[in-house]
Amino acid sequence: MLEFDIIIVGGGGAGLYAALWAAENTILKVAVMTKVYPTRSHTGAAEGGINAVLTHSVGDSKEAHAYDTAKGSDFLADQDAIDIMCKMGAAVIYDLAHRGVPFSRRPDGRIAQRPFGGASFPRTCYAADKTGFYILQTLYEQCLKNNVTFLNEWFLLSIIHNGERVEGLTAWDIRNGGVHLIKAKAVILATGGHARIYWKRTSNALGNTGDGSAAVLRAGLPLKDMEFIQFHPTGLAKTGILVTEGARGEGGFLRNCNGERFMKRYAPEKMELAPRDIVARAIQTEIDEGRGCGPNGDYVCLDLTHLGEEKINERLPQTREHAILYEGVDPVEELIPVAPTAHYSMGGIDTNKYGETPIKGLYAAGECACVSVHGANRLGGNSLLDILVFGRLTALKAVEYADDASDTNPSLAKQKDDERRILGLMEASGKENMADLRKELGNVMMKHFGVFREESLMKEGLEKLKEIKERAKYVKVYDTSKRFNTDLISVLEFLNLVELSIPIAIPAIERRESRGAHARKDYPKRDDKNFLKHSIITLKEDGDYKLSWKPVVIKKFPPEERKY
Ligand SMILES: Cc1cc2nc3c(=O)[nH]c(=O)nc-3n(C[C@H](O)[C@H](O)[C@H](O)COP(=O)(O)OP(=O)(O)OC[C@H]3O[C@@H](n4cnc5c(N)ncnc54)[C@H](O)[C@@H]3O)c2cc1C
Repeated sequence: MLEFDIIIVGGGGAGLYAALWAAENTILKVAVMTKVYPTRSHTGAAEGGINAVLTHSVGDSKEAHAYDTAKGSDFLADQDAIDIMCKMGAAVIYDLAHRGVPFSRRPDGRIAQRPFGGASFPRTCYAADKTGFYILQTLYEQCLKNNVTFLNEWFLLSIIHNGERVEGLTAWDIRNGGVHLIKAKAVILATGGHARIYWKRTSNALGNTGDGSAAVLRAGLPLKDMEFIQFHPTGLAKTGILVTEGARGEGGFLRNCNGERFMKRYAPEKMELAPRDIVARAIQTEIDEGRGCGPNGDYVCLDLTHLGEEKINERLPQTREHAILYEGVDPVEELIPVAPTAHYSMGGIDTNKYGETPIKGLYAAGECACVSVHGANRLGGNSLLDILVFGRLTALKAVEYADDASDTNPSLAKQKDDERRILGLMEASGKENMADLRKELGNVMMKHFGVFREESLMKEGLEKLKEIKERAKYVKVYDTSKRFNTDLISVLEFLNLVELSIPIAIPAIERRESRGAHARKDYPKRDDKNFLKHSIITLKEDGDYKLSWKPVVIKKFPPEERKY
C-alpha cells in the first residue's frame, strides 16, 4: 500500500503551488497525484493574466481590488476570504517572478499590468497571452527541484474518511491498471472545475469533469454554490475555444451585425470591460433579439483590427493563432466571430478561508473549491490568483495538521467497492451509449441551465437530468484491458459529470433571484432579503439530495446596486 503524509490530488496551478509550499516547509512525505501529466493540466490554458496590486500600481490599492472582487461577485463572495486573497497578491506575483515566470515587462523593467473586466485599475499581470502556461511550467520545475513525488496518470476514485478525519483515498493506476488504496494523513483536492458538463460549448479541457467534487459528494460532504457557472463572453463561434479577456483589455471592441459597439447600451462606462456576466448577457441578448452576425445570426464580432499587427503579435499572439486556425480569420484584418461559452465553476467543494472541509485533514483548493472568493461571478484574472493564494495557504494548513496527526488506518472496504464498481461497468448491458448520453447531458445543461434561466425550463431540465442519471446505469466500458484504458477513464469522467448535474440544477431552481451568472428571466432582480446566502448541497445515503443555506460573510462592502 502506498503511503504519504500529504497527498495532493491535482497537478494544475493549485496542486503544484500547494506541493511546492508543502515540500519547502516540511520534511513530511508529500506527493502529487494527477490524471494527466502535470504540465498538461488546464492551468496551462490560462491566457490573459493574474490580478494583483503591485508596489508600482500607482493609484490602485488592495482595498480597491477587494471592492471590485466583491462587487463583481454580486456580493455573494465571503469578504474575509477576498481580503486574504487581495492582500497576498503581490507576494504571490513576486514569488512567481523569482522562481522564473517570465512576466511581460514595462519599458522600465517592472512587471506590466493590463486592464481586465470589472477592475477599476489595470492590475492584471501577464506573460503575453500564455500566462498559465508559463506558471505551470515554472511550478513543475520547482516541484522537481524540491523532490516532490509525482504519481502521474493516476485517477482519483474515492476519498476515505471515518466521519471525523481523512484516512486516504483510492485511485486507478492508468498506466498499469488496478485500484490502489493510498494511505495519507492529509489530502488536498485540487482537481479543477467542472464546466465540461456543458459539453456542447465550453472553453474547458476535456478533463475538467469535476472528479474531486463528485468524490466529495459521494463521500457525503457538502458542495457550495453549484448553481453558479460562468459563461465567458468570447468563445470562438465555431468551437467555444476561448478568446482571452486580454483582447478586450488591450482595446478590442464588440460589434453586432450593424457594426454597433452595443456594450454602450449595457455598461456605458466600462463598455467591453464590464464583468463577464454582464458582457455575456449583452451578447446573448443581441443574438436573441436578431442583431447577431453571420448567416444564422448566432454570434457577434470582436474587432481587434485597430490595434495593429505589432501589438497583436506582441500581446495577443495566441489569440491570433487560434482565430486563424479555428475560425479562418486573421484578426489583424478581420473581425473574430464570438459567442458565450461555458467557462468556469464558481461553485465547488465547500471550504472555509483556509481550504478546510468539515473532515479533518481533508482540504480543497483551486477551481474545485468554493472558498468563496468569486461568489456569483468571477472577475477575469482572479482565478489564477485564487488557486495560488489558497493552494499555498491550504498547504501550510495541511503541513501543520499532518505534522501532529497520528497514523491512519483505512479499511480495505473502499478499495473492494471500487474494484466491484469498475468490474460492474465492464459487465454492464451497454444498452446506453456513453458518447450519445454525454452529448445529451451537454445539450440539456446548455438549454435549461444556460446564460438565461427560468423556472419551468429548469424544472423540465431537472427531469431530463434525472432520466440521464438513470440511463447512465446502463453505460458500458467495452475495453477490459488494464493499461491506458481510456474507455474506462472517459466513462468514469462522464459519470462524475452526471453526478454533478443535479446538484447544479436543484439550487438553480431554488434560488429565485438573479445574481451574477445566475440570470433568471422570471426573477430578474437580485433579492438580498431572501438570497444573500450560499447554497449547500449534499447527497444523502438514500440517494436523494439535501439543500441548505449558509450566510455570506460581509465586512467592508455592504451589497449595493452593480453599475458599470
Ligand atoms: C481557456 C481558459 C483560459 C483561462 N484564462 C485565465 C486567466 O487568464 N486568468 C485567470 O485568472 N484564470 C483563467 N482561467 C481559469 C483558470 O485557468 C482555472 O480556473 C485554473 O487554472 C484552475 O486551476 P486548478 O489548479 O484549480 O485546476 P487545473 O489546472 O484544471 O488542474 C486540475 C488538476 O487535477 C487533476 N485531476 C482532475 N481530476 C483528477 C482525478 N480524478 N484524479 C487525479 N487527478 C485529477 C488534473 O490532472 C489536473 O492536474 C482560464 C480558464 C480557461 C478555460
